[in-house]
Amino acid sequence: MPAIPSFFAEGALVAVMTTQPLDGPLDYKAPEGGCHLGAFVEVPLGPRKVPGVVWGVGLGGFDLSKARSIIRVLDVAPMREEMQKFLIRMGDYTLTPMPAMLRLATRAPGLSDPPSMRKVYRLGHGTPDRETDARRRVLEVLNTFGGLSFTLKELSDEAGVTSSVVKGLVKQGVVAEEDTPRDTSFPRLDPSRPGKELTADQAQAVTTLSAAIQTDDYGTTLLRGVTGSGKTEVYLEAVAQTLRRGRQALVLLPEIALTAEFLTRIEARFGARPAEWHSGVTMTERRRTWKMVGQGGAQVVVGARSALFLPFQNLGLIVVDEEHDNSYKQEDGVLYNARDMAVLRASICGAQVVLASATPSLESWSNAEVGKYTRLDLNARFGVAVMPELHAIDMRTEDLPSNRWISPTLQQAVTTRLAKGEQSLLFLNRRGYAPVTLCRACGHQIGCGECDARMVEHRFLKRLVCHQCGDTQPMPDVCPSCQAEGKLAAVGPGVERLSEEAQELFPEARIATLSSDLFGSARALKEQIVKIAEGAADIIIGTQLVAKGHNFPLLTLVGVIDADLGLQGSDLRGAERTFQLMRQVAGRAGRAEKKGTAMLQSFQPEHPVIRAILSGDEEGFWRAEADERRHAGVPPYGRLAGIILSSPDMQQAFDLGNDLARRNGPLQHVGAQVFGPAPAPIARIRGRHRVRLLVKAPKGVALQPALSAWIAQVRVPHQTRLTVDIDPQSFF
Ligand code: ADP
Ligand code: ZN
Repeated sequence: MPAIPSFFAEGALVAVMTTQPLDGPLDYKAPEGGCHLGAFVEVPLGPRKVPGVVWGVGLGGFDLSKARSIIRVLDVAPMREEMQKFLIRMGDYTLTPMPAMLRLATRAPGLSDPPSMRKVYRLGHGTPDRETDARRRVLEVLNTFGGLSFTLKELSDEAGVTSSVVKGLVKQGVVAEEDTPRDTSFPRLDPSRPGKELTADQAQAVTTLSAAIQTDDYGTTLLRGVTGSGKTEVYLEAVAQTLRRGRQALVLLPEIALTAEFLTRIEARFGARPAEWHSGVTMTERRRTWKMVGQGGAQVVVGARSALFLPFQNLGLIVVDEEHDNSYKQEDGVLYNARDMAVLRASICGAQVVLASATPSLESWSNAEVGKYTRLDLNARFGVAVMPELHAIDMRTEDLPSNRWISPTLQQAVTTRLAKGEQSLLFLNRRGYAPVTLCRACGHQIGCGECDARMVEHRFLKRLVCHQCGDTQPMPDVCPSCQAEGKLAAVGPGVERLSEEAQELFPEARIATLSSDLFGSARALKEQIVKIAEGAADIIIGTQLVAKGHNFPLLTLVGVIDADLGLQGSDLRGAERTFQLMRQVAGRAGRAEKKGTAMLQSFQPEHPVIRAILSGDEEGFWRAEADERRHAGVPPYGRLAGIILSSPDMQQAFDLGNDLARRNGPLQHVGAQVFGPAPAPIARIRGRHRVRLLVKAPKGVALQPALSAWIAQVRVPHQTRLTVDIDPQSFF
């Protein structure tokens, strides 16, 4: 096959992939001045202009005089071959059509804007025709700040004059007005600044990682270490090593609330802040990041999973922090796991991946077991801090009135901490006041009108909220079913209710409730966390938000209100998730000099997962869990794909499901089985009925082509949507 040319002269026929839902690329003629392979362009499509990327040589086979021309080439670096490959391979893996993949890679606000300039002002050469106070002040400011240029607003504010004063000076040439590009490079990060002095464990891990980075080749390392063991310090050194080689690094974090603390650590280590990419960043900043990453004007990006699609010029390292976290799984639109796709991307561009976690996913653990990943362990906590003591509180023997959740034993432990001026954390992974609102007259439970889910009372908001679709309604006074007044009762605990109980038990204590929905912004939450870490609260009440990476040096007690919460249900990963979450929460205690204790309230302290948590035998837990999954032939020892059919018409969804189940030939061919159709665990979301099928296949078979052939046999009715979830994380 002849190599694809990297440049097309004007008039040459090229294939352009657009972000429109078409079957493939369309042919266009290269515009005046030609275009590069991978160029981001705008093309005519019917009466519209749509964005696209020059994908390769045009296919032709039609009257060339009919071919339309590319309208223009956008002012950004062309897509690299490596990115094109990544999109194709990821599209094949997740069964996503290329236009949808391309949308992920072009999600930069203002991408098609002309190069954006802004006016700046600096000292010119003329002398003013007339001296006034205001004019003198402007010149003073410009003289004081030497060669710096100002925006009009900055200059007039600094000088305390109106903008017309500055404009007047511009007319006379006293002040020079210039256009400069709005998108500028990020400040250089300096890897030669000294890092922390490393412990022997850490130094050894850094040596291994550095050697891997020196190869400029692909490799994945699982960096396991308890919370506080210094994993972040270790991967910061990997970032340093990557920068020394002149390559770029991407650090993925599972939670925006964590970025602020991390940015500060990067700044402390490298002397400047990196680029950021997540939903909390302004459009302007995002566009700047997108462009600078492509031109080499950003060395390190800290971001959410979608940062994987940034057009890195020379990506040498991807860190996935808290790699086990389920928020790496994108659950709508294109369904993908950012951790797995990071590995794919790195393998294509010859980069290293570091997967960091205190409690790795079973997938990563087993990849390390079979030698696909290198495994590095940090076993001790940094400094004097040691792992907390872990106890179960057997709730069957605690004397606790109904509608109370803090056992006398836990209460006593908190009281002791209060007396010593130490902090306690009460952990409950349930937002809101109470998970169920029940009418004591008729037994009615208030549900969401659009979903098959209960409405959750949020007392701070004075509303009921559906955690599925986000729908809210005011808290009613009468039962919506029997109209009885004053009979609605809260059943079960949420963090808000727990905080009420704590307030009653410990009236003197300062109590802070941390739940993502109680803060207007990530910044507000972050500020609150910093204050708490500095000692602004005695008792912290929190959801899983607090399990993720924050440092609370004064915290010495963690009470887990309901350690059994994740153990019920048929979730494949229930045990693994509970294990990870409990260990992470327990890891919050005793991070500084003081030894910590974690207490788990449980009605089944003899459950194997609870026992594994208490004994601290992680390898034992993973081996046991691995055996069970191997036996059942499920991931990571077998493959799963979920098929969700959703439709306003339940019968239609079921008919399609049955049709698929009958025509299972292409799946049988590769040894895969189909289960279902069955109503999905949440059988209705936003008014759409949901039916699911589950496909189970042995590891190592070509599952995706078989799935494609299978699905291609049926026609999906207009109103119905068919979604394929490869490697499903949750089964809702
Ligand atoms: P992890 O990422 O494993 O939770 P961190 O890297 O955040 O651990 O380390 C925990 C704390 O210990 C942080 O405050 C960090 O700055 C500190 N720390 C870790 N290693 C060192 C070191 N070698 N020298 C000084 N402080 C360290
Ligand atoms: Zn709902």
